[in-house]
Amino acid sequence: MNVYGMRAEYAGSGTIKAWHMMKDGALTALCGRELREDAAIMTDAGWAHTKEPICHTCGALYLRQVPYDSMMSGT
Ligand SMILES: [Zn+2]
Repeated sequence: MNVYGMRAEYAGSGTIKAWHMMKDGALTALCGRELREDAAIMTDAGWAHTKEPICHTCGALYLRQVPYDSMMSGT
């Protein structure tokens, strides 16, 4: 329960447009966006370390749901 991970959103060209945060492997991101079942995934340890942009809404929701001490090392 409450296992977070990141799932990619793709641009039309097939490149990764942004990363969203999802919980328990869901296809719906925290921000409500539906993502592809075959989209690339990453553990939430990769948060703030991707070269692609991160969804700001997911970031805000994630920071609110996850204890700060596990997050702040990346800043
Ligand atoms: Zn999002």
